[in-house]
Amino acid sequence: MNAEIIAVGSELLLGQIANTNGQHLSKELAALGISIFRHTVIGDNTARLHEAITEAEKRADLVVLTGGLGPTEDDLTKDVAAEHAGRKLIEHPPSMKSLTLFFEERGMALTEANKRQALYLEDSCVLENHNGLACGVAFKQNDTHYMLLPGPPHEMKMMFEKEGKPYLLKNRKENKVIESKIFRFTEIGESTLEAKLKDIIGFQSNPTIAPLASEGEVIIRVTAAASTAEEADKLIAATEQQILERAGEYCYAVGEKPLIELTLDRLRESGKTIAAAESLTGGWFAKKAIDVEGASAVFAGGAVAYSASAKEQLLGVKAETIASYGTVSRECAEEMAVNVKDYMQADVGISFTGVAGPDPLEGHPPGTVWIGLAVDNEVKAFPLELRGSRKLIRHSAVFHGYRLLWK
Ligand code: ATP
Ligand code: MG
Repeated sequence: MNAEIIAVGSELLLGQIANTNGQHLSKELAALGISIFRHTVIGDNTARLHEAITEAEKRADLVVLTGGLGPTEDDLTKDVAAEHAGRKLIEHPPSMKSLTLFFEERGMALTEANKRQALYLEDSCVLENHNGLACGVAFKQNDTHYMLLPGPPHEMKMMFEKEGKPYLLKNRKENKVIESKIFRFTEIGESTLEAKLKDIIGFQSNPTIAPLASEGEVIIRVTAAASTAEEADKLIAATEQQILERAGEYCYAVGEKPLIELTLDRLRESGKTIAAAESLTGGWFAKKAIDVEGASAVFAGGAVAYSASAKEQLLGVKAETIASYGTVSRECAEEMAVNVKDYMQADVGISFTGVAGPDPLEGHPPGTVWIGLAVDNEVKAFPLELRGSRKLIRHSAVFHGYRLLWK
């Protein structure tokens, strides 16, 4: 099966936003063994959208459109697709029900424009929107499949994952089984990892190997298509061996779960709780922990102690420590970690102190960071020399913290 992706939206053409939906869909479709032959970006214009669909359908087995499913005047995708396919737009009662409920709950009037979000093309499949209001659509006409997805990335990704993928797996021409396996890497950048695997990524179409930089880690998804699951697994196993031979030392886990969830799982299994003392990360470490469902069993709490005096007042760091070593120091990080652990009566205390930049602090350049780790009665601090913007330094520090806990 080959596909073309049409991203709809004048803001894409004007350069106001980047076409990240196109990028995401390309990777996802490739992982299903579908070849992407072309991307098109088109403005909110009826005639040009017709033209783009007409061209794409000549070449592709699958045309995926993203954007323009919303309620406003410039949201044309469903109207154009319906007219193009010669199908009526009709109401999808379950979508209308959730739409009505959404507006009722907020005491807002449901306008005719909003009702358009619950329309779909007759004789097509509705793709439910789990993160928004406009339903998506998939249908087949003259041997081509069409899929209409929303523009907002969080809506599009979820709809594709939960609704679009199953539709494609059911409707692919090839009667093949698709299996995939995820390998998770830390302490190595995406480009370095890619360079190590360059030849196997480049010369191989089954399985496909897709590297993806994710938060604090790099993941590699290996996807194989075969007539049986066993055959697909065998293909994956052969590639797995090659990947691990080249970069096995950086692979810390296999599977769908990301680093933070795995770390919290591990702490939960060992019955340990954790508390965090954060300076430059400003609560980001805590936020990432609390984002995970069931965090309460593991994450006790913590404090954001940004100024030197907050480190003394909130966390009981000794004035002499700060006077002798400064806040950007092993000694300060260690005291922060031990004290937050003790205050919160947790088993593990973690601390972050350092220079986010752009200016140096206490004579240290931006990116100088200490992470303290107090476990039971022991404490250690780890120095980091991070590079990048203020945001990147803070972000990296958080993920280094999770990596230290994972180790
Ligand atoms: P809405 O109901 O929000 O109007 P929609 O399905 O009509 O959704 P658009 O109006 O085309 O989608 O886009 C809404 C927003 O989604 C855009 O302002 C942009 O922030 C984001 N978006 C749209 N298309 C893309 C894309 N290809 N890549 C990344 N972001 C996109
Ligand atoms: Mg819109």
